Amino acid sequence: REVVGTSPVAEEKAMEAALRPKALDDFVGQKTVRGQLSLVLESSRLRGAAADHVLLSGPPGLGKTTLAMIIAGEMNAPLRISSGPAIQHAGDLAAILSSLTEGEVLFIDEIHRMSRPAEEMLYMAMEDFRVDIIVGKGAGATSIPLDLPAFTLVGATTRAGLLPAPLRDRFGFTGHLEYYSAEELELVLRRSAGMLDMSVSTHGFAEIASRSRGTPRIANRLLRRVRDWALVHSVEEVGRSAASEALDTYEVDRRGLDRLDRAVLEALCTKFRGGPVGLSTLAILVGEETETVETVAEPYLVREGFLARTPRGRIATDAAWTHLGLPIPSGQER
Ligand code: ADP
Repeated sequence: REVVGTSPVAEEKAMEAALRPKALDDFVGQKTVRGQLSLVLESSRLRGAAADHVLLSGPPGLGKTTLAMIIAGEMNAPLRISSGPAIQHAGDLAAILSSLTEGEVLFIDEIHRMSRPAEEMLYMAMEDFRVDIIVGKGAGATSIPLDLPAFTLVGATTRAGLLPAPLRDRFGFTGHLEYYSAEELELVLRRSAGMLDMSVSTHGFAEIASRSRGTPRIANRLLRRVRDWALVHSVEEVGRSAASEALDTYEVDRRGLDRLDRAVLEALCTKFRGGPVGLSTLAILVGEETETVETVAEPYLVREGFLARTPRGRIATDAAWTHLGLPIPSGQER
């Protein structure tokens, strides 16, 4: 999981910063969101006012942080970065909000993990650019109103449905990021390979793209692992077989499934004869948090047709059994 999992490690953070596209035009794919967002930004430029608040939803690694940076860049505005888990008290949020400057873009990653009191403070800040700071406790507590400069909030969440409706409704625009096509991932890879000074053939790019789970972050990560492999094996130009051998070494299979994905399918097939089984049970069996299984592994497994959601729980499709190299059980065995 450390090599090809989903949470960025230190090397990756530095590399991600370097590989991030800086302008909306350099941002590959997501045509719909890009088009909508460019209207929102253009209109705000024409009005000379801060852009509407933007909510970006989608699985990790699809470009939400990158888009927040691009929004700030295109608006020529400073960017402040925070995250839901870092905002546990209303005071944490008040401190951030009260230090914002006019037009600043505030990015809150994993905004669904903010605490309730902070969330409630955010409602008023978003709507009226105002907060009430509570001073003191109990009967003696007073609230001091504080005006804020107009700012643009960019919230990111793995699923818009995780947000309470009152918060969701306060965003002027919600963009849903989709998994990338193989062609789009090849574009991301080509650009990154150029920056890493790597030589990769067209087939090599295709091989890496097909194993990247539709996710640019994973594509870039696999590219770096292929670079390591090529360096150690003195391979000058990475072709299909080199890429495929390298990625086999890192346990990323042909369909892009990593260890967690396969663990979920294996648990489902071997422990529950293909299901149906509840999500939390599955999560315990694979030793992950329910949210990780639900927002990281499951969307991709569903998209690839390995797993289906039913009212009674998750079930493995025939394709899952086949992919794991197991015989598909007959009707009575299930
Ligand atoms: P998220 O915030 O959704 O988890 P990030 O914005 O951090 O994802 O993106 C992860 C990595 O993927 C970054 O290094 C970024 O350069 C790359 N990336 C994401 N989307 C794109 C894109 N559309 N074009 C090029 N690179 C991208």
